[in-house]
Amino acid sequence: MKVLLTAICLIFTFTAAAQDIYIQSGNLIDTKSGKVLGNHTIIVSGNKIKSVEKGFVQPAKTSDSLIDLRDMYVLPGLTDMHVHLESETNPSKYLERFTNNEADDAFNSVGFAETTLLAGFTTVRDLGGSGVNIALRNAINKGKVKGPRIFTSGKSLATTGGHADPSNGMNRELAGDPGPKEGVVNSVEDAKKAVRQRYKNGADLIKITATGGVLSVAKSSSNPQFTLEEIKAIVDMAKDYDFHVAAHAHGDEGMQRAIKGGVTTIEHGTLMSEATMDLMKQHGTYLVPTITAGKEVTEKSEIKNYYPELVVPKAREIGPKIQNTFGKAYKRGVKIAFGTDAGVFEHGKNAKEFGYMVEAGMPAMEAIQSATLVPAQILKMENELGQIAPGFFADIIAVKEDPSRNIKTLEEVEFVMKEGKVYKK
Ligand SMILES: [Zn+2]
Repeated sequence: MKVLLTAICLIFTFTAAAQDIYIQSGNLIDTKSGKVLGNHTIIVSGNKIKSVEKGFVQPAKTSDSLIDLRDMYVLPGLTDMHVHLESETNPSKYLERFTNNEADDAFNSVGFAETTLLAGFTTVRDLGGSGVNIALRNAINKGKVKGPRIFTSGKSLATTGGHADPSNGMNRELAGDPGPKEGVVNSVEDAKKAVRQRYKNGADLIKITATGGVLSVAKSSSNPQFTLEEIKAIVDMAKDYDFHVAAHAHGDEGMQRAIKGGVTTIEHGTLMSEATMDLMKQHGTYLVPTITAGKEVTEKSEIKNYYPELVVPKAREIGPKIQNTFGKAYKRGVKIAFGTDAGVFEHGKNAKEFGYMVEAGMPAMEAIQSATLVPAQILKMENELGQIAPGFFADIIAVKEDPSRNIKTLEEVEFVMKEGKVYKK
């Protein structure tokens, strides 16, 4: 009886202490209208935004708390639609495939996740790893690990020898013959099995490698690597599980097949022709540029022995072209969603992408929208993510300067709240 009473008392105390947080914001960025508004107060209750009031409102109850961001520019938490939280570039990266256990990747990913969150990215799409990314998502959701909200593809789908075949570059004995379970697909039937396996593993979406890639130990950076039928089978099967499909693609032919096959996003898009840009507009496909990755692999390819021999010429060919293609695609009216490929370069540097986007001709406010409003559409969370408005998740960040005038201020985020909890102040 005594135990029960104590428990009731505890619950009561907890309820009575439940407080709202009043965030007084001197400059509020309204991503929906694309305008910077004056003094507002955001009232946060639990993990959501309860209301947004004009002017500076004082807390109503003594248990409520106040956060003073009167001198700051306040905006919704950012979303990076292309990261790899399981790993980070380093000169031993290729060796780590043989030396690391899953537990090593898991421990590493904890730090990468926190770094990403503290950089102002409260949501990410993890586009491929071994599957540790699924466990990482779960641990973050349960509050065991600090990190962004993750939507993950688990292991990406490739074809034999294609970008993301996990045994690329290994000797034949070690390579074996990975199949749909390991994410390697060579027929329509394999495609169906691979998608269902991702569902079973706990993925949120599907990633395919529609063309060759830069960092895989394989010759081509851009050849098509799936048939149209295989892609269609993946997209169709994915619909049954409410998954969207993201397609890595550098080469034009593979990109066209992916778009015709019905994928939602094209990652990188490096050698995209104007005809393909028009095809994307027709199908409503989004481009996720990853300009930062392009710049960083170009730089690293100059460091002796940083990448395997097969990778270096690909990095030099593909890396420098991504920004230019992005600029053309944007000007032609292709829909753009912010994404960096962090992991290919150091985590936490995600916001550098904004500067590159603006440099290529995108207005700063649109770049901000591509990391707030647009991802929310793709993730089908347009009533919960990407805006500071009632009913939305309390994912709120702040910077010192007006990012619509100086986009680089987003590289130094001063305040981070995710779901009502402050992680950086
Ligand atoms: Zn990637």
